[in-house]
Amino acid sequence: MSSSSGSPPAARPKVAPLQAVRGMNDVLPDESALWQRLEDAARAVFSLYGYRNLRVPMVEPTALFVRGIGEHTDVVEKEMYTFDDRLSGESLTLRPEATAGIVRAAIEHSLCYERPQRVWLAGPMFRHERPQKGRYRQFHQFDVEALGFAGPDVDAEQIVMLARLWRELGVADGIRLAINSIGDADERRAHRADLIAHFERHHDLLDEDARRRLHANPLRILDSKTPSMQAMIAEAPRLIDRLGPESRAHFDGLAGALSDAGIAFEVDPRLVRGLDYYNRTVFEWITDRLGAQGTVAGGGRYDGLFEALGGKPTPACGFAIGVERMILLLQGAGATAADAPLAYVVHSGDAAGTLARSLAEQIRDAGHAAVVHAGGGSFKSQMKKADASGARYALIVGEDEAAARTVSVKPLREPGEQRAVPARDVVDAMTPDSPMRAAT
Ligand code: ATP
Ligand code: MG
Repeated sequence: MSSSSGSPPAARPKVAPLQAVRGMNDVLPDESALWQRLEDAARAVFSLYGYRNLRVPMVEPTALFVRGIGEHTDVVEKEMYTFDDRLSGESLTLRPEATAGIVRAAIEHSLCYERPQRVWLAGPMFRHERPQKGRYRQFHQFDVEALGFAGPDVDAEQIVMLARLWRELGVADGIRLAINSIGDADERRAHRADLIAHFERHHDLLDEDARRRLHANPLRILDSKTPSMQAMIAEAPRLIDRLGPESRAHFDGLAGALSDAGIAFEVDPRLVRGLDYYNRTVFEWITDRLGAQGTVAGGGRYDGLFEALGGKPTPACGFAIGVERMILLLQGAGATAADAPLAYVVHSGDAAGTLARSLAEQIRDAGHAAVVHAGGGSFKSQMKKADASGARYALIVGEDEAAARTVSVKPLREPGEQRAVPARDVVDAMTPDSPMRAAT
C-alpha cells in the first residue's frame, strides 16, 4: 500500500524487549558445558548403583504437595506457584520438589507392587523465594529415591553414591556430610511436648515464623536461620537422645555402614528437613564455599509418605541435589568442561565448500565434532571465527586444496606449523595419538 503511494512504510513503534521472570535463569551455551558435565557424571554414577530414570510432570494437583510436603512448611505456606486451571477450575501447582510426584506415580502405577525400585529424576523445580546467589525461583534438582527399602543399608548406599559423585566431579574436599535421626512419629510426639515447653520458656526470643509454628510444627523451628534464635535452639532438647530401640538401631546401622565405607560424617542433632513426612535418617551435604546457601544436597527417609498419599505402607529413602549450587561449587573449584569442536573448517569457492563439508562428515564419522564455516567472508575473518570457536584445529580449504584434494591443518591451541595433508588423512593428522591410529 505504502509503496504504491510512494511514501516510506510507517515505522513500527519500538517495543521494549521482554525479560525472563525474576529468579528464573537462562543457561547460556558458554555455561551449559559444565551443566552437561555434571549431568553426565550424575547419570553415570546413579546407573552404577542400579538407579533408573523416571520422569513425572512438572505440574501436579496442589493437594499432592499440601499432603505430601505438609501444610506448615515454608514450601507450602509461602513458596508454591499455585493457580487454577482455567477450564476445570482445579487447583494446580508447579512442582516445588520431586518426591511427592514420584511417590504419586509409584502409587498410581503400582511400581513397588512386585519389587522395590531405585529411581532418579532430573529437572526444574519452582519455589517463590527471594532470589539471591544459590537461591532461585526456578532451580534444578537431581532427585534420587529408593522406594520399598526399609534400610539402613539403602540409606548408606545413597550417601556412598553421593560421595562417589563428589569424587568424580573433583569437589569431595569442599563438601562435608551431616546426619541425624528424627526418629519415628511416636518418638517425635514425646519429644514435641518437651520442645514446645523449651520454646515457650524462651517465647520472647521467637520470631514471627517460630511463634506461628510453635504448636503446629515445633520441630521446624530447629531449622530456623534467624541468628538471634541460634543459641536458644542449640539448647533445645534433642530428639536423637530419645530414640527408641528400633530407631536407635537404624541410626547405628547407618553410622556403621558409613564408617565401613570410609565416609566421614558429623552427627548434627538439630538437623531436620523441610518436609513433614521425613522420619529416622536425615542428611545434608554442606559446603562452606557458598555462603548461606551452603546445602548442596539433602535427603532422608520418609516411611510415612506412601500412606499419607493414599498408598500402601512402603518404606523409602531419597535425596535431592541442587544443581545450581553444584555448578557454583564446580566453578569455584575452577572446573571447566570442554565442548569446543576438534576442527573448524574455513573455505572459499564452490569446490572448496563441497570438500569442506565432506571433510567435516569424515571427522564426525570418526566421532569428533567439526564445524563448517557458514556465511562467507575472507579467510582472515573466517580464521577469527575458527579461533573464537575454541576449536583445536583450523582446516583450510581453498581452490588449490580443492583441486589437489588436500587440506591445510593449522593447530590453534598449541604451537605447531600449518601443514598440508591428503584430504583422506585429515582425521589422523589431528589425532595422532588416538587408539584407532595406534592399532593400525
Ligand atoms: P534451603 O534450606 O537452602 O532452603 P531446602 O531444605 O529448602 O534448602 P530441599 O527442599 O532439601 O532444600 O532441596 C534440596 C536441595 O535443592 C537443596 O539442598 C538446595 O541445594 C536446592 N535448593 C532448594 N531450594 C532452592 C532454590 N530456591 N534455589 C536453588 N536451589 C535450591
Ligand atoms: Mg528452602
